[in-house]
Amino acid sequence: MKSLPADTYVDGVRAGDRAVLARAITLVESEHPRHAALAQEVLTRLLPSTGRSRRVGISGVPGVGKSTFIDALGMHLVGHGHQVAVLAIDPSSSVSGGSILGDKTRMSRLAREPAAYIRPSPSSGTLGGVARKTRETLLLCEAAGFDVVLVETVGVGQSETVVADLVDFYLVLMLAGAGDELQGIKRGILEVADMVAINKADGDNKLAAAQARSQYRAALHLMRPGAEPVVTTCSAMEGTGIDLLWDSVESVIAQREASGALAQRRTQQQVGWMWAMVNDGLRAALRAHPDVAALVPCLEQDVREGRATPTSAALQVLGAFLPRTQA
Ligand code: GDP
Repeated sequence: MKSLPADTYVDGVRAGDRAVLARAITLVESEHPRHAALAQEVLTRLLPSTGRSRRVGISGVPGVGKSTFIDALGMHLVGHGHQVAVLAIDPSSSVSGGSILGDKTRMSRLAREPAAYIRPSPSSGTLGGVARKTRETLLLCEAAGFDVVLVETVGVGQSETVVADLVDFYLVLMLAGAGDELQGIKRGILEVADMVAINKADGDNKLAAAQARSQYRAALHLMRPGAEPVVTTCSAMEGTGIDLLWDSVESVIAQREASGALAQRRTQQQVGWMWAMVNDGLRAALRAHPDVAALVPCLEQDVREGRATPTSAALQVLGAFLPRTQA
């Protein structure tokens, strides 16, 4: 990719130019060391124009209706004058090399809306790398004037905590199952959720959805006393419940804004991102260190066969790595 001058990115993104925004995102997603410094310069200059959006994470298992829901919610928001960006974190994309999340074809109405911008998940790298790219893409979208950023992810693995660390509000979509609502649900996801919405509350499924809502309310009351997230129902397909749902999202965010909790959460996230980057960088440097690489196979073998304790082996690994970095 041939990069543009920094001014062109900064001015174009600030002006809301979609073509430049797309190129700026490609720049921050680039793995090429040559692009990294330019990307950081652009982001630093845009930083004062960021932070003014509602950042909302949306997750749920495949088939729960995420894309139908985001299409419906996005249309609702656009209809109320918002500019909506949809980003995605797909934990499987680094394996499969492709991403189904944030796919324009899945959000067919929203994809045709001039006030919306849909960007699929970065398709390569570790979850940490994907998260970094999504964070920076989110900042670019804010600088380009989007006032709602929806971050889509599948509720499996660790991606839900990555998304929780990125957003102001975390919405989990669920389905009313055959009486097993409270089994097999991911505890982790419910621990970070600000709202649980039972989707597909339409037709014959309405009653089951209402029952599931009561069950989730009771379960969350026990699980998170005092911090019970909103539990609601909706039908993404029929578009029902979406307006009320968004009103609740807005009101929770407004309360947090007024109390200072939102600013505090974002500040903590920023510092957390810094340390996540430091940790990722250290791990990569450690693994790339030639002395460490030479030592590790033997040490692992020694630990496996009981000739060395894990602690003494760890100290040797660190000893091989640290003298150089300290020099
Ligand atoms: P995703 O994999 O989570 O993105 O789910 P999709 O949005 O692709 O939806 C999966 C299937 O469920 C599709 O066939 C949708 O038409 C259907 N679906 C999504 N939302 C609803 C809903 O509110 N009610 C009903 N009845 N079906 C829905």
